[in-house]
Order: sequence, then C-alpha cells, then structure tokens
Amino acid sequence: MRKFLLILIIPVIASCSTLKSTSAVEVSEVLTADLARADGSWAGVATISQRSDGVFMSLSAEAPAAGTFGMHLHAVGKCQGPEFTSAGPHWNPDMKQHGRDNPMGAHGGDLPNVDAAGDRKITLEYQLPNMKLSGPAGLLDADGGALIIHEKADDYKTDPSGNSGKRIICGVFKSGNKS
Ligand code: ZN
Repeated sequence: MRKFLLILIIPVIASCSTLKSTSAVEVSEVLTADLARADGSWAGVATISQRSDGVFMSLSAEAPAAGTFGMHLHAVGKCQGPEFTSAGPHWNPDMKQHGRDNPMGAHGGDLPNVDAAGDRKITLEYQLPNMKLSGPAGLLDADGGALIIHEKADDYKTDPSGNSGKRIICGVFKSGNKS
C-alpha cells in the first residue's frame, strides 16, 4: 500500500513545485505515513518532504465525523493505540510553548486545524516554517516523529496541546520508512 501511494504522490509534489517556482526546487527526502485509528484501522496517508524551499506536509484522511480537528507532529514515531500517548508531546525543537497565538509559541510541530465536511474527508497542504527533517534538531531523529489528529479543534494558544482532546488518528514518520 505504501509503495503504491508513494508512486502516486511523488509526481504530484514534483509538478506542484514546478508550477510554484521558475527555478528548480530540489526534493531531497520524501516520507509517507499510513494513518491508523485507535482500533488500528486505516484512516489515510500523510507525506512529508524536505525540499530546497522548506519542509512540506500533505495529508488525506478520513475523520470520524464532520467537524474541525487539530493536528500536530509529535516527538516520537510510535503509534500505540488506543491512546497514542506513545507518540510523546508535540515536536518542539525550539523549546517553545504551544500555539501560534501564544506569545511564547509555537511548537515546531503545530499544524493548522482542518475541517471535514459531510464526506468526512480531511486534506492539508502545508509548509512548516523554518523546520528541517534531518540533523540534530530535525523531526527524523533516532525515534522519528508522528502525525496525530485530535478529536477537537486546536485553540492555538493553550499549552501544551491547545485543548484539542484525545488523539484519534496516528501515523509514524521514520527515516526507515523510505521506500
Ligand atoms: Zn503544540
């Protein structure tokens, strides 16, 4: 499944980058994560890529219901259900507090809320500001990182997790996931 999706996703990323910029954008690293619900069932896929113009995330998942959902990159690449506490806190290489609206924020792993309509589909295309995947402060350290989707919207300010509630969907990013 992962290899099949990667074949589909890489050309999309490559074609987007050529549209956005006249100069060549190099893609040095692409990782995909299968996303799982608390019961272990498949909920979608996320891709993270290191490009010469930044770190980009794209995501396609199925929410449990229509609504708004917080999501974050977490510090540990381990998705042990049903609570997913194994994924640790938000990825925080700069030792900040949570949330873009927090004067002491934000975490490197703080992502925007996503909306699901009646079809329950969640999608996101997002550039993480000033972040790197590799190196000492990168997401892909020895234990990797995880993408978590929460049951509620993130208020963008309450430390440490924006009152976004339970962790309902989880996916692992590790260098070993490279296909
Ligand atoms: Zn955070």
